[in-house]
Amino acid sequence: MCANPVRVLGNQETTGVECVKMSMCDLDDTGRPAPSIVKGSHFTIDADIFIEAIGQDTNPLLISELNGIVRGKRGTIIVDEDGRTALRHVYAGGDVATGAATVILAMGAAKKAAFAIDRMLREECT
Ligand SMILES: Cc1cc2nc3c(=O)[nH]c(=O)nc-3n(C[C@H](O)[C@H](O)[C@H](O)COP(=O)(O)OP(=O)(O)OC[C@H]3O[C@@H](n4cnc5c(N)ncnc54)[C@H](O)[C@@H]3O)c2cc1C
Repeated sequence: MCANPVRVLGNQETTGVECVKMSMCDLDDTGRPAPSIVKGSHFTIDADIFIEAIGQDTNPLLISELNGIVRGKRGTIIVDEDGRTALRHVYAGGDVATGAATVILAMGAAKKAAFAIDRMLREECT
């Protein structure tokens, strides 16, 4: 079953989680299945602990420590097509540059950046 938690129940202490069933029938603009709420399907699960175990935001620590990095609207690092940031010798790729995306895009960005870093080092060392 496809479900999504929508509310943690309880006042001082957690007593449960309200969920709603999701259907994956609709396709988005790119043809990818998009989840949609099944109307009237809310249900609760009794629980005394709720652990949020996924995150799709980038760790702000690294970015805040790097002076000179240019950040996009959603807190991402702005890079050129080779993953080059505004900070000399610093490259970025993957979710930190695109926002939440996919493994294959992150791997592709890493490969492009690796080639660009190699080119840069060869130029600077000759
Ligand atoms: C629930 C969920 C399901 C997903 N399912 C899919 C899927 O089915 N298919 C798919 O293609 N993609 C999926 N994705 C997306 C995919 O996981 C990401 O796009 C991908 O992992 C991005 O790779 P990345 O290397 O850019 O970032 P990450 O994989 O997030 O790697 C970043 C790494 O940097 C480390 N880090 C952060 N801050 C610091 C710091 N200050 N110092 C040192 N290290 C640090 C983190 O611990 C982490 O190991 C899913 C994502 C989520 C959250």
